[in-house]
Amino acid sequence: MENCIFCKIINREMPSDIIYENEQVIAFKDIHPKAEVHVLIVPKKHRANLNEIDDNEKELLAAIFLAAKQIAQQLNLGAQGYKLVLNVGRGAGQVIDHLHLHLLSGTYNRPLNEI
Ligand code: 5GP
Ligand code: ZN
Repeated sequence: MENCIFCKIINREMPSDIIYENEQVIAFKDIHPKAEVHVLIVPKKHRANLNEIDDNEKELLAAIFLAAKQIAQQLNLGAQGYKLVLNVGRGAGQVIDHLHLHLLSGTYNRPLNEI
């Protein structure tokens, strides 16, 4: 998708701190972290948000959640745990129109509703 920041990151047209990648998913550090650990987990297929996911695309949702589990293991978050946040639409705070799951852990810099 043209002019989509996350598509550009996926295509290596824009730099980012990538910490995990598989066939369907990429994950990189949030540029303005709202917590000690703040990772964005992004499907490589462009979909604006959850409302654009069809019933036959369940695998894409499974892929981002299972990637979250892998990343949590990779970052040794077993003891402290983590939160997953998925904003849908401007009213909920979504500013990047490419579906992404926020993985947050540790000390928060902002209240959860500002993420
Ligand atoms: P949203 O508010 O859409 O749910 O979350 C978008 C997130 O993307 C924000 O937390 C913001 O800090 C992050 N972000 C915006 N632009 C960039 C960028 O160019 N690189 C990275 N790594 N994160 C970004
Ligand atoms: Zn995109």
